[in-house]
Amino acid sequence: MVHQYQLNGCNIVLDTCSGAIHAVDEVAYDVISLYREKSADEIIAHLLEKYSGRPDVNEAELRACLEDVAELERSGKLFTPDTFAPLADAFKERSNGVVKALCLHVAHTCNLNCAYCFASQGKYHGDRAVMSFEVGKRALDYLVEHSGSRTNLEVDFFGGEPLMNWDVVKQLVMYARSIEKDTHKNFRFTLTTNGMLIDDDVIDFSNREMSNVVLSLDGRKEIHDRCRVDYAGNGSWERIVPKFQKLVQARGNKNYYMRGTFTHANPDFLNDIHAMLDLGFTELSMEPVVCAPTDPAALTQEDLPIVLEQYEQLAKEMLERKQAGQPFTFYHYMLDLTGGPCIYKRISGCGSGTEYMAVTPWGDLYPCHQFVGDERFRLGDIWNGVDNTAIQEEFRSCNAYSRPECADCWAKLYCSGGCAANAYHATGSLRGTYAYGCELFRKRMECSIMIQVAEKLGK
Ligand code: SF4
Ligand code: SF4
Repeated sequence: MVHQYQLNGCNIVLDTCSGAIHAVDEVAYDVISLYREKSADEIIAHLLEKYSGRPDVNEAELRACLEDVAELERSGKLFTPDTFAPLADAFKERSNGVVKALCLHVAHTCNLNCAYCFASQGKYHGDRAVMSFEVGKRALDYLVEHSGSRTNLEVDFFGGEPLMNWDVVKQLVMYARSIEKDTHKNFRFTLTTNGMLIDDDVIDFSNREMSNVVLSLDGRKEIHDRCRVDYAGNGSWERIVPKFQKLVQARGNKNYYMRGTFTHANPDFLNDIHAMLDLGFTELSMEPVVCAPTDPAALTQEDLPIVLEQYEQLAKEMLERKQAGQPFTFYHYMLDLTGGPCIYKRISGCGSGTEYMAVTPWGDLYPCHQFVGDERFRLGDIWNGVDNTAIQEEFRSCNAYSRPECADCWAKLYCSGGCAANAYHATGSLRGTYAYGCELFRKRMECSIMIQVAEKLGK
């Protein structure tokens, strides 16, 4: 399967199954696009006519180009057949119950009342609750017990708002550190916060212990304050931005992400990226809102061309800023084309429900935070393990080859079949696809590949 596109002056040919990416001139680009449909003589006749004003495009050059394309095909770098489908089931069998990451819902409560909250203001459609140290400790033990020979384990502190249960977060980190040596494990912690309760203690502890912090900020003040309000309806921007700046400044080289959400109110989200840059943040992420199509925040079909254009513009600006010595990172454009994920990972995706699970404040296990609160997806608990093996099996077999719509999608080995939660919420089925999200995903892939091609070409 081959995908061709032109962006920012680059002619890019992507061979899905080999992963090869070719940056070619426009004549070779045309040759490749016609290669499977027409005979050599037809291609030559067609292109001699198209490029009739170009003396360098002659029959000898075109035949040489056709031979180059044939050589790429012979060497498995173009029109590579898809041989991974049969492997998808075999890989599924190999995912043998090892758990490598947990998302701890330490607080099902929140001090904000965001209009687009996917978690019903942190409560996940249930009662307010916080996780006790005992439950959190048992969750960490469960992770260690089920991690097999894996050394590095990931733990996300999530909510609601996890800083509303900060003492327990700290106790759990200290407990995990205390068992690292004896269990031969390394814990990597991530904290996701709305920032309201950040103080010096949070900054010091997080910057020492958290491998990553995810800071929720939607960009422009008026955009942020439109949705991210407290229970009195007041925007939170002015209260959180100075705290985020202080935390990031003190963080040195450790990872962080400013994580924004864009909605129908700001499909022009590049302006929010600019706002974050102006505030001194350089590690950025903007996610399309996930909500019911009837929600006023939902992105519409009219928003789609705007969003797609914003992604392209963002990629161009990233290149320009890097050349000007002011680089910044956009989470969705971080694509490792050389030492990237192994084919197992590229087929099987994020591992939700198998390698990765969410834990509620009372110790129930769910495939990921997006399913918490929906009893049908409860997998089990941290004392007795997974007992809903039917649901786990469904998640285990969710991959790039289990969804009919993905069969012809050039991006399938980058997307691994997409997000199960988005698919479920959009279609009612884990095996569905969220078409709108797919359009955005493919555009992001085109942009991130273009960035790397342009850098290689010195553009
Ligand atoms: S801060 Fe997060 S959990 Fe709290 S209301 Fe906003 S989106 Fe929901
Ligand atoms: S982008 Fe959509 S269609 Fe393509 S592989 Fe991902 S989920 Fe499937």
